[in-house]
Amino acid sequence: MATPALQETIDEVKELFRTYLKTNGHRQTPERFTVLEEIYKADGHFDADDMYFRMKETGYRVSRATVYNTLDLLVECGLVQRHQFRQNQSYYERAYAYRQHDHMICDDCGAIIEFCDPRIFEIQSMMKKLYDFEISGHSLHFYGHCSDPSTCTRKSDLKKKEQRQDKE
Ligand SMILES: [Zn+2]
Ligand SMILES: [Zn+2]
Repeated sequence: MATPALQETIDEVKELFRTYLKTNGHRQTPERFTVLEEIYKADGHFDADDMYFRMKETGYRVSRATVYNTLDLLVECGLVQRHQFRQNQSYYERAYAYRQHDHMICDDCGAIIEFCDPRIFEIQSMMKKLYDFEISGHSLHFYGHCSDPSTCTRKSDLKKKEQRQDKE
């Protein structure tokens, strides 16, 4: 599970984002920096609506469109990573100063487990040599079910989310 970023890291990513926006002629609005900060304070993986509701509940006045468009910019500049698990919507997580890892996803409750195995890096280096191929990234997801049904804890979260969407 991811843990919230250090304030030091948050300051660093803000600076990187500022430079990116400036270089590419995007506006440096305070809302965009608030979204960035919330992402780095967040724990684990989230979809765009999770982030939007989270910010709304915290009392930020930020539009859904701003959240979506800031996420796109953050993916573009490499500060946020986007994942596609099965046919579901995209999930995001912070990418800067965070360990390289892969994911296991429960098809029942949607829980996401992160794991890190250096052998994957070894395979990557080997394939690079073997096929003379420049690798720029990888994604590896295992799908399945929690062995213990009592640990399918995110079920209640999903329910909350459905109710929230009904209210919209
Ligand atoms: Zn992850
Ligand atoms: Zn589960």
